[in-house]
Amino acid sequence: MGSVETLDILIVGAGPVGLALALDLGRRGIRSTVVECSSGAESELQAKASVIDERTMEFCRLLGIRDDVANAGYPDDLPSDTIFCTAMNGHYIGRLAMPSAEMREVPEQSAEMLRRCPQIWFDPICARAVHRQGMTDVRYSTKFLRCDQDDSGVVCHLEHVNTGAVHQVRARYVVACDGAGSVLRKTLGIPFDGKDLGYAISSIVKVDLQKHHTWIPAERFMFIGPDGTWGNFTTIDGRSLWRFSVVGGKKKTNLSTFDMDKLLDKAFGRDDIEYEIIKTVQWRRSQYTAERYHKGRVFLAGDAAHTMSPTGGHGLNTGIGDVMGLSWVLQALLEGWGGQRLLEAYTLERRPVALRNGMGSTRNFSIWVDSKGRDKVLNDGPEADEQRRTLGKNMAANMRQEFQPLGLATARHITG
Ligand SMILES: Cc1cc2nc3c(=O)[nH]c(=O)nc-3n(C[C@H](O)[C@H](O)[C@H](O)COP(=O)(O)OP(=O)(O)OC[C@H]3O[C@@H](n4cnc5c(N)ncnc54)[C@H](O)[C@@H]3O)c2cc1C
Repeated sequence: MGSVETLDILIVGAGPVGLALALDLGRRGIRSTVVECSSGAESELQAKASVIDERTMEFCRLLGIRDDVANAGYPDDLPSDTIFCTAMNGHYIGRLAMPSAEMREVPEQSAEMLRRCPQIWFDPICARAVHRQGMTDVRYSTKFLRCDQDDSGVVCHLEHVNTGAVHQVRARYVVACDGAGSVLRKTLGIPFDGKDLGYAISSIVKVDLQKHHTWIPAERFMFIGPDGTWGNFTTIDGRSLWRFSVVGGKKKTNLSTFDMDKLLDKAFGRDDIEYEIIKTVQWRRSQYTAERYHKGRVFLAGDAAHTMSPTGGHGLNTGIGDVMGLSWVLQALLEGWGGQRLLEAYTLERRPVALRNGMGSTRNFSIWVDSKGRDKVLNDGPEADEQRRTLGKNMAANMRQEFQPLGLATARHITG
């Protein structure tokens, strides 16, 4: 058997969090290796994050990708409005009006403003920056299987996805950025406590809503029925690409028999709109946090350490905060100017942030699915009109924090 390759830092997962860590380590002059089981950063069209909050934008400055993110292509003149309705040609319930990027001021609590940059752009921006920086060896189609650690390092068993060949590398430190289903977290046996909030189904839909609707321009439509919010349309690129999500049940749905077209017709309120469903995925909404963020020489970051409902747009942002807090710890450990207690400090610093953001996100979701005061929303007549008016005002007031989470992003309490 040949000698085992030795590395300083192995990052498992080339999602936004793993790539941000690689970039920040590179900025500090530290080389790292990333293994990623998929075949490339641009191989999957994902209907996930688009809110890049103020703090993450500040980090993007440090990482040298601020302009790439701010100018990625999301229209600066698109108002961030949310429209509450029963269907797009059904009853109007209300509107949460929020300014477009060009009409917003940079808040005094931050050097940057919140931006929209969907993950279909953000992840490739990070991947290109890592490539440009030249400090990281990114190995796609390479899957982490398991690891064993001793006092001086971690032996990781990796599989080449295309050939099935398994080999070992030895790293001084390993960071699990392998997402919510983290194999590393499970391998280490770190408890993951929290709760499931049900399954959701999302489709990426190509449709020219601007042409079809007078309530546009807006960033989001939320569809409300007597049982609460059942679905939403959220723009991905600010143009013709939208994410249509439906709030699912406690059990997984069989996607092969699931009729998304029927729900799209329900959302449009008519059946003559041309659209194309590009992709449909089912995902689990949950709020879990790892009991600790490291074991020995292995650290957890991003969704591997915490999951939260997307209501608030905190998952990716919290994960990037994790690795920006971890990279200097790794530098200190590698260069010998940081002691072992720094390992604990990472959990102490970052876990409370995930708990707080997770709770905030679940609270936002509970407003979505609340069914109080909605029993007449589909009816005609003055009583139903009055219920819709009241509901619209309440939704707009209660949901402002979800779409303007400056306090959580900058860890300050904002009252204005
Ligand atoms: C509908 C929706 C909307 C969202 N909106 C927002 C938002 O607006 N703002 C926000 O901040 N967050 C949002 N999120 C959450 C955000 O998408 C996640 O928090 C973020 O992707 C987590 O990044 P990550 O790098 O930790 O994990 P992931 O993005 O899951 O990346 C993990 C990577 O690890 C790889 N991997 C997994 N296992 C292995 C293995 N064994 N070996 C090698 N590689 C492996 C995977 O292929 C993947 O590339 C949203 C999520 C959803 C579902």
